[in-house]
Amino acid sequence: MVKATVSSAPPHLDLSEGESLAPFTTIRVGGPADWLATAACTRHVVAALRWAEERDLPVAVIGKGSNLLISDDGFRGVALRLTGALTAISARERGMWCGGGASLPRAVQRAAAHGLTGLEFGASIPGTVGGAVAMNAGAHRGELAAVLDWAVVAGPGGRRLVGPADLDLSYRHSNLRPGEVVTAAGFALGSGDAEAIAATLAEFRGHRRATQPQGVRTFGSVFTNPPGDSAGRLLEHAGCKDLRIGDARFSPVHANFIEAGPETRATDVLALMAEGRRRVLDRGGPRLEPEVRFLDPDRGIVSPPLP
Ligand SMILES: Cc1cc2nc3c(=O)[nH]c(=O)nc-3n(C[C@H](O)[C@H](O)[C@H](O)COP(=O)(O)OP(=O)(O)OC[C@H]3O[C@@H](n4cnc5c(N)ncnc54)[C@H](O)[C@@H]3O)c2cc1C
Repeated sequence: MVKATVSSAPPHLDLSEGESLAPFTTIRVGGPADWLATAACTRHVVAALRWAEERDLPVAVIGKGSNLLISDDGFRGVALRLTGALTAISARERGMWCGGGASLPRAVQRAAAHGLTGLEFGASIPGTVGGAVAMNAGAHRGELAAVLDWAVVAGPGGRRLVGPADLDLSYRHSNLRPGEVVTAAGFALGSGDAEAIAATLAEFRGHRRATQPQGVRTFGSVFTNPPGDSAGRLLEHAGCKDLRIGDARFSPVHANFIEAGPETRATDVLALMAEGRRRVLDRGGPRLEPEVRFLDPDRGIVSPPLP
């Protein structure tokens, strides 16, 4: 990895070349990006996006990489990460302000410490606030859409302030496009009883420990749940629990998780996803749709390419 000495790059743009993206994901798989940019304020995000646009390079914003599979061939564009002030969290009387790169579990903890209720569902969702907005992350019958008050979205042309209705949030979906970056978000929360909030958090975390793989490399749910059913149940019924391709396997604990080993390649993961989908279809089940996002070397962030 080398720091860029690109004379055309604005001086405040922090760029490195050829850095592996695997360490920036929870499954820790995938190749290097031609460019990795880090930005600590919205103005720098806009500058990075503009720099990429001027060179006709695709952009991929990476949060905690907790729902992301990077191609083994890496990325021929600009991967963008949010740092510094964009990871800040500030609790207010009736809500919170968070940078787009802030940790969601940390925001949940901060809300709890201030007796603010509404964000508890995010206790075990290991992403950033920006990633949670982009994915409309949710759990335990709660979701981002229910608490989002406003968001700042940056693009190469500048920033705009949006409300939840502008983002068309639905189950694990927003209308944000790859070159649009959530640099801050505000949550509208209620005032609650600190002990009750702490008890809810303990219950949610305990449920995770009992039902999902722990201490292994995953990217969370592989497929979204089809209406009225669960992807985990369908995959388990189709014999996918503990099914292995290369150095990746469907978790023996919960079939809608893929666990990676030290030698796992993205191609193993994609082959396993294709096999899981095929087995469920062969048993007369629905066509499972990926929840995880895929970083394609040339196209940027897309749905994983499954046959
Ligand atoms: C163990 C485990 C458990 C999980 N449990 C849940 C769960 O219960 N519920 C759930 O919904 N998810 C769950 N996930 C998945 C994941 O944590 C969420 O989807 C999370 O919201 C992703 O955030 P991230 O910052 O990691 O985004 P990334 O994985 O880095 O990126 C995901 C997508 O969001 C986009 N994105 C990231 N940051 C921004 C930004 N600032 N602006 C615009 N777009 C952005 C990326 O470009 C990409 O398209 C789990 C994951 C793991 C590993």
